[in-house]
Amino acid sequence: MSYVSSMRCKECSREYPVGAFNVCDFCFGPLEVVYDYDAIAEVTSRERIMSGPNSLWRYADFLPADYNPDVDINAGFTPLIRSKGLAEHLGLNELWIKNDSVNPSYSFKDRVVAVATAKALELGFDTIACASTGNLACAVAAHAARGGLKSYVFIPSDLETGKVLGAAIYGPTMIAIDGTYDDVNRLCSELAEEHPWAFVNINVRPFYADGSKTLGFEVAEQLGWRAPMHAVVPSASGAMFTKIYQGLKEFERTGLIDSVQTKMHSTQPRGCCPIATAYEEGRFVIRPVKASSLATSLAIGNPADGYYALKTIEASGGSAVIAEEHEVALGVKLLAETEGIFTEGAGGVAVMGLKHLVELGRIQPDESTVVYITGNGLKTTELVADVVHPLHIEPTVEAFEQAIAASTA
Ligand SMILES: *Cc1c(COP(=O)(O)O)cnc(C)c1O
Ligand SMILES: [Zn+2]
Repeated sequence: MSYVSSMRCKECSREYPVGAFNVCDFCFGPLEVVYDYDAIAEVTSRERIMSGPNSLWRYADFLPADYNPDVDINAGFTPLIRSKGLAEHLGLNELWIKNDSVNPSYSFKDRVVAVATAKALELGFDTIACASTGNLACAVAAHAARGGLKSYVFIPSDLETGKVLGAAIYGPTMIAIDGTYDDVNRLCSELAEEHPWAFVNINVRPFYADGSKTLGFEVAEQLGWRAPMHAVVPSASGAMFTKIYQGLKEFERTGLIDSVQTKMHSTQPRGCCPIATAYEEGRFVIRPVKASSLATSLAIGNPADGYYALKTIEASGGSAVIAEEHEVALGVKLLAETEGIFTEGAGGVAVMGLKHLVELGRIQPDESTVVYITGNGLKTTELVADVVHPLHIEPTVEAFEQAIAASTA
């Protein structure tokens, strides 16, 4: 059973019963899920969590839906890897990589969709849908396939082939739209009014968002029940960023870990950095931008949770940094060459953002740091085509020796 007591408006605090809506009727503020933390504290323990499944459902006491094997594809509980090569490169002594690129559909979006889909079924839906920058479409289509649900996934038409095919293969109804993600999202908000579907990131968004808390829980557990000094996170809507922090604070509040000192750092690419720009200019008002970035999964020009991401930065003593567009592929390459992990553009942004945070002195060498790698590079191979140089030869020993000599010259 879940420990949800109600839904609440983040702005005016009006309470609502639990249902498929995400906006306050009175002030149009976003709704969030309210939990009974005293009840959770009574039942939860490190042992109880450790004896749970090797998926995000080991944290079910903190989630708004019950585990449902019918739609489970084993999202979460991904590796946390102690960095060697990247840490050395950056001069850090305790760097950890949360490798969420190895989820079932190859991005952290499996977490949010696992929770949203389980909740949608509890609420009686038979169809799930989403407005996506790519990875969400993959996760929605995969979970729908597993659960025998209908699905509609809406994407911008200019996405990488790996994301389009990586979602289409699961058999959703896929709709590519000539426009930006923000156009897709606006259309889906209108469609959510017309159709009885659970749009995971629209009408059931409060439940969806809480799936990302597990990225905080897991890191704390995997670090031996402690929170890191710094978390470096790629942001689009800003939802994951705020929820990682909420997850850490919930573990603190229920006595699972000591006081959380984690500074939350948001990273964005130059071509779409409304949160980081607001941070740099010291304002809490997000100015929407026309998004255009090589890190397509971060290209949300009007971030729904941008304001709350800025509040999380403030509350945690963190910051925001920008990776230049030309750095996106370099960050992907750097992580691959130093750690053996092939991430997509969002991961490249996180890695280069981390580099800038170290250069700026915001992260000191001995401070424990986790960088979140949220998506898989095999979906966005176009991005790195120009930064790698495989040799191509005739099948002769001479050709091989010549090519090697030329490449090492
Ligand atoms: C969606 C996505 C993000 C951003 O998540 P938000 O919650 O929208 O900030 C980051 N990385 C990857 C790979 C994504 O797919
Ligand atoms: Zn309200």
